[in-house]
Amino acid sequence: GASLIDGTAAAAQLHAELRVAVQDLTERGATPGLAVVLVGKDPASSVYVRNKIRKSVDAGFRSFHHELPTSTSESDLLSLIARLNAAPDVDGILVQLPLPDHIDARKVTAAIDPAKDVDGFHPVNVGSLSLGAPALIPCTPLGCMLLIKSVRKDLAGASAVIVGRSNIVGKPLTQLLLREDCTITLAHSKTDDLPLVCRSADVLVAAVGRPGLIRGDWIKPGAIVIDVGINRIEREGRQQLVGDVDFDAAQQVAGALTPVPGGVGPMTIACLLRNTVEAACRRRGVGSPFATC
Ligand code: NAD
Repeated sequence: GASLIDGTAAAAQLHAELRVAVQDLTERGATPGLAVVLVGKDPASSVYVRNKIRKSVDAGFRSFHHELPTSTSESDLLSLIARLNAAPDVDGILVQLPLPDHIDARKVTAAIDPAKDVDGFHPVNVGSLSLGAPALIPCTPLGCMLLIKSVRKDLAGASAVIVGRSNIVGKPLTQLLLREDCTITLAHSKTDDLPLVCRSADVLVAAVGRPGLIRGDWIKPGAIVIDVGINRIEREGRQQLVGDVDFDAAQQVAGALTPVPGGVGPMTIACLLRNTVEAACRRRGVGSPFATC
């Protein structure tokens, strides 16, 4: 059967490295600071934000927490971002998405100083990534790459299929795998014969949001399978979290496989903190402790 790619363990390892890096920066009088902005009361967003703040405090970061009411105007949010851009002790700014409908998320993302854009969503970072220039890289695809590299260092020539073309996962992951000399197929809801496309993958990434979409017989024997999906379903009368991959079937075929939960999820938060350290080092002219993935 497939070996499990343990995202919880990989994230714990990264957190340990982050703690050392943060301590090192603190000794130079430059504790990295992360500002987290939440507008409104979306329950999932509140959970994500709480986790991000808790993990950042655990790792020794300075944490700045801004919780604003749903009624916050776009211009008030933009002036908060301007203040955070100018604040010397803030290295990373994260505005939790989605934002309320009356606020233009694109405008808000573009207002963040690209050097502090630890989500990697600013057009300058998106463009730099696709040019192969230094960039802050979106956390979920960065986490996927670190997990893939933990089982296979040399990806040159490998065929990679990503299912899901979102701006936050599929598109940036395409760039990262291209940088590793993979041959990429970016599949989506309009792809013809998705099973056939998936069967060609040495590395298969599912980022769709449909429980069990990827079946066992869609997987090439021995493939590395990364399941980004987070789906809440009810099974045998209980709420359960599952991914986009039929886990039990995939385990019989794949070479290595991430579980849900305990795969990509924990790596996403760890990569947010990694980006904050990266941003702090760049802003302060200190060498980064991390090789760019
Ligand atoms: P999205 O809704 O923005 O994009 C979904 C993509 O899937 C689209 O490109 C669409 O074309 C494609 N798609 C939809 N139905 C399809 C089908 N039947 N066949 C093939 N492709 C199909 O989603 P997103 O924001 O990229 O998130 C995807 C999933 O990943 C969600 O379950 C989300 O919760 C999860 N996610 C997890 C993390 C994490 O930290 N683990 C982070 C981000 C997103």
